[in-house]
Parts: sequence; C-alpha cells; structure tokens
Amino acid sequence: MVACTSGGNATIKVTRDACTPPSVTAEPSATAVQSNGIADAEALWRPRGVPALGVRAGVALEVRFQHAAPQFHGFYDDQESVIYINDQVTDPTALSIVIAHELGHAFGLVHVSPDLRTSLMNPGNLVVPPTDEDQRAIEALWGVCP
Ligand SMILES: [Zn+2]
Repeated sequence: MVACTSGGNATIKVTRDACTPPSVTAEPSATAVQSNGIADAEALWRPRGVPALGVRAGVALEVRFQHAAPQFHGFYDDQESVIYINDQVTDPTALSIVIAHELGHAFGLVHVSPDLRTSLMNPGNLVVPPTDEDQRAIEALWGVCP
C-alpha cells in the first residue's frame, strides 16, 4: 500500500527547520474544514516543541486539496513547497493527522514502519498524533527548539 509517497527513503531533499517553521496556508478554494485542519495540525505539533507555524519569515508552504485514490492521503512536494492532501479525507481528526504527517516530512521525518513503533509517520496513518519518539526524531534533526 502506498499511503503517502513522501519519505520512507532519502528522497526528501528540501526540509524545513522545525524550530523556525514556515507559514502554512490553505489554497484559496479550501473549505473551512480544510483550513481548520491546518490549524489543528499545528496544534498537534505545538506540544512537541515545534513553535507556531509562520512565526519567522521564510518560504511559505501551501496546502492544496485534490481528488486522489483513497489509498493516497497526502504528499509533500519539497521542490514546489506544496503539501497535497486528498480531498476525500474529510474527517477533521484524520485531516489534522494527515496534514501533521506531511508537515513531519517537511521537517525531514521519514516513514516509520508500524512494525517498529507506533508513529505519526506510520504510512497511511489517520489516527496517531505526534508521539514522544516523533518529538525525539525532530529534536535529533533540529535540536530542542528555544
Ligand atoms: Zn508520508
């Protein structure tokens, strides 16, 4: 199953410092639920030491919602600075998890096999928020944010 074609390997070339996260904006046609999903994804990362998105200047990430096959939840396009989310993901909790997962890729996290541990970064994850181990993975890449 390919739930997200980002990560899982070394293909993420452009990553974003989790301690100076970019602005993340919804495409103009996004629904209220979709826009709220971005805020909810931010709220999932905040307790894990990631500062508010967009506090510091930088290249913004845009979240675009597009129709895709059910097994595709999202994709982080590091070259275009765009996060794509399947517009069939409409449950608010699942939506926040999928966006937080793609933000995880933007921060440089790769997929974690569910056989290894439960993680936000499990492929196809719709239910697991950032965990203690996910926080440690962020800190291993970027240090503990001030
Ligand atoms: Zn992924």
